[in-house]
This record gives sequence, structure tokens and C-alpha cells, in this order.
Amino acid sequence: MTEKTKKIALDGPSGSGKSTLAKKLAGHYGFVYIDTGALYRTIGLFVCERGIASDDVKGIISCLPDIKIEMKLENGGGAVYLGGRRIGDEIRTPVISKYASDVSKVPEVREFLLETQRAIARENNVIMDGRDIGTVILPDAQAKLFVFASAEAR
Ligand code: C5P
Repeated sequence: MTEKTKKIALDGPSGSGKSTLAKKLAGHYGFVYIDTGALYRTIGLFVCERGIASDDVKGIISCLPDIKIEMKLENGGGAVYLGGRRIGDEIRTPVISKYASDVSKVPEVREFLLETQRAIARENNVIMDGRDIGTVILPDAQAKLFVFASAEAR
């Protein structure tokens, strides 16, 4: 990894307001906000569309060679493309949330998404949120934040 770009890693429990904070910080510093959860959701969408159950680990792994996932810079953020198709709100349904959660537990899926995440951080100043960003994806991030906030504080 090169040192030419700046990286901020943000972690915290779900509901801590970390994505809201990440977007605000990105706007403030002119960094690109990368929603890494969208990548796991997109893998979940692919697996679901193949008709594979979310807990079928072998089935999930068998999909990986066919998945062409890209993150492109659009309007100051990372837009996800799956085989050239731009992914939008179809990954925000309860069914796909469950798929995303299940596929994210598969180590082969995490390994598969590693380079996609690192590649965007090599080319852009980024703020990324997600549970393994500061430890696995961007261990050389200049700033690593862990966010706790109560509902009242937010
Ligand atoms: O943040 P979001 O709800 O969109 O994440 C979708 C799923 O992917 C969640 O189950 C989350 O735990 C998982 N995830 C992950 N590692 C990341 C980002 C999200 O395991 N870096």
C-alpha cells in the first residue's frame, strides 16, 4: 500500500451513528465516503438472485468466481457495480440485509472483497466504515476511530 492517499477508518456498533458521522467527516475534509456494507449487501444480492440460501456456505463460495464487483467514484461517494449494473436501493431490503449478514461471516467472501476495498483507498483519500477496516483492510490508516453514541447523544 502506498502512503500517497489519506485514510480514516471508522468502527462502532450498529446504531452508533457511524455512517452519519463518516459522511459528515468526508464532506468536511473532502474525502470519499466508502460504505463497505454495500459491498457485502451486493454479494448477498447476487447469491439471493442465484436462488442460493443465505446459510449455504458452499453455495456462496461457488458464486464468487462469477461475481464482478466494482466500486466507482460518483458524486463524491463510492457507487457499487455488479457485472456493470449499478446497484441502488435493492440492497436495502430486509431479505438482502439477512443475506449480507450471512455472507459477511464467510471468510472467503471477506477475502474476496479485500482488494476491492484497498484499491479505492489507494487512489482516493477515503473514510471507510466497517468492522475490519482499521485492522484488516486499512491497517495503515492515519486515523482509526471507534464511535459510541447513545440515541440521545445522536
Ligand atoms: O452496514 P451494513 O448494514 O450495510 O452492512 C451489511 C452487512 O455487512 C452487516 O451484516 C455488516 O455486519 C456486514 N459488514 C461486514 N464488514 C464490513 C461492513 C459490513 O461484515 N466492513
